[in-house]
Amino acid sequence: MSKEVHIVGAGPSGLYCAYLLLENGFEVHLYDQKSGVGKKFLVAGNGGLNLTHSEDLEKFVEKYGENTAVFTRLISEFSPEDLRAWCKGLGVETFIGSSGRVFPKTLKAAQLLSLWLEKLKSSPKFHLHLKHKLTSITKDGELSFYVDEKSIDIKTTDTILCLGGGSWKKTGSDGLWVNFIEKLGVQVKEFRSMNCGFSTDWSKEFLTGFEDDYLKNIAIEFSNQSIRGELMLTSYGIEGGGIYAHSSNIQKYLLENGEAQIFLDLKPSLSREDVLKKLSKPRGKNSLSNFLRKSLNLSKLSIKLIRELVSKEECQDQNLLADKIKRLPITLREARPIDESISTGGGVIFDGLDEDFKVHGTHSIYLIGEMLDWEAPTGGYLLQGCFSMAHHTSKSIISKYS
Ligand SMILES: Cc1cc2nc3c(=O)[nH]c(=O)nc-3n(C[C@H](O)[C@H](O)[C@H](O)COP(=O)(O)OP(=O)(O)OC[C@H]3O[C@@H](n4cnc5c(N)ncnc54)[C@H](O)[C@@H]3O)c2cc1C
Repeated sequence: MSKEVHIVGAGPSGLYCAYLLLENGFEVHLYDQKSGVGKKFLVAGNGGLNLTHSEDLEKFVEKYGENTAVFTRLISEFSPEDLRAWCKGLGVETFIGSSGRVFPKTLKAAQLLSLWLEKLKSSPKFHLHLKHKLTSITKDGELSFYVDEKSIDIKTTDTILCLGGGSWKKTGSDGLWVNFIEKLGVQVKEFRSMNCGFSTDWSKEFLTGFEDDYLKNIAIEFSNQSIRGELMLTSYGIEGGGIYAHSSNIQKYLLENGEAQIFLDLKPSLSREDVLKKLSKPRGKNSLSNFLRKSLNLSKLSIKLIRELVSKEECQDQNLLADKIKRLPITLREARPIDESISTGGGVIFDGLDEDFKVHGTHSIYLIGEMLDWEAPTGGYLLQGCFSMAHHTSKSIISKYS
């Protein structure tokens, strides 16, 4: 049997498969429709590439929600520690940030990607085919690519597709593969925004002279779950890590109810009683804004938000004001468009695949990475999930030939 694998999609999932298969003596063909590799991975590095997380594995795998069992198996085979060791092997040191998240020391993706690609290219068995857009695939492994306005057909033995989700189309992850993947007999669940912002209705007064800015050191509560984090207030609504962590549950709620309410704790380090005590001090000649700033050390943006969301009457009543500072409701209307979101829910459902992610009824077509229907919050769980899947599938192909 020829030890040759064709991988389509040069994001982290495809690139890691290429790495492992080359290490094990395979001839590897890697295709991507873009003119470069890892475009979304590079974008992920813009905000500080969060590769994985250092928390206990038991807690770690819970982040995959209904797919916890699948990821428990995958992450036991290729763990966050394994990922850090692999980066180190490439020459990229990582560190654990104060929140337990793991980053490369440079915080960016470019150095890691360039050393990774250099390593692949150092093998004579590596063949990179850029500007190759996959347009169809048959169950017996015939791939058709659109290249230079022509169609090229390739007959393959083992094929791994890692075509990504449906957000940030400009990185190549356009989700257009749905049409031809369904012909393999798998079911594809419609994409929806995940780890995304939400819109709300700010008043005209609120938006006057407004610039996007962060609310820091707050807690965000949804459905009785409170998460410490940051929130960016934007002209359309809210963004940021604190809301991304709730985005899956908010999305489900919005679909059924049309709108959803979150609650902000603007002073999570103080109890309601402490807040009330501070509000009970004489205000003197201070305006409400000045008083809130001096007594509670609230930021300008927090005060602007209180003025937007708390009525004048409530502001006059210390008890009601303390309630609002500890539990300020914001009504969310809808998720931001898919193309803006960090990840997408939906994709190929697991039922159509075996435990190595091989499509049922095919000899050797595997689907992995974000193109499958799984979700995880930000915190490094998305990339770790992709790496662990790529590790598992590559190992399964390697073991077929040994
Ligand atoms: C702004 C942003 C920040 C992020 N930050 C983080 C973070 O800090 N930590 C984290 O864990 N995750 C983060 N992510 C998510 C993470 O980048 C993705 O989960 C990950 O890149 C998915 O990897 P993948 O290889 O499965 O797919 P992708 O990286 O999406 O790669 C898919 C590849 O397939 C190619 N392709 C698609 N269709 C075709 C076709 N028909 N023919 C040929 N090629 C095709 C695309 O061009 C693309 O190169 C972030 C994402 C975004 C958008």
